[in-house]
Amino acid sequence: MLKTKKMPIRADYKKYYDARWRKFRLAMLEAAGNVCERCGKPHRLLNVAHLSHDPADRRMIAVLCPSCHSRNDTAQRVAMTRRTLAQKRGQLWLTDEMRLAPIPLRLWPPETRQLDLF
Ligand SMILES: [Zn+2]
Repeated sequence: MLKTKKMPIRADYKKYYDARWRKFRLAMLEAAGNVCERCGKPHRLLNVAHLSHDPADRRMIAVLCPSCHSRNDTAQRVAMTRRTLAQKRGQLWLTDEMRLAPIPLRLWPPETRQLDLF
């Protein structure tokens, strides 16, 4: 039996990847014909990717091969890495909105959701 390397899931996102997700994921893979929706290539480790980077989002979703998934998430990954490094160095952000920008708005702490005012 082949061992597959699984993508690590952030601890606070694990609750979104339950049995319902796994069932949804299998249906998405089947609907996509088990090929990447971007490059059209079949792959034995297709991912169901959250294009909005929000783990609760079931609409902005695509079946992607690991290469296309990685390319899709590059800007998000770079932004999150920059923020993690900045936080470790003690850098302060001008505003909470700038600090939280790559994180889906739904996941922002309630006290920072000032956008409702507009
Ligand atoms: Zn692909």
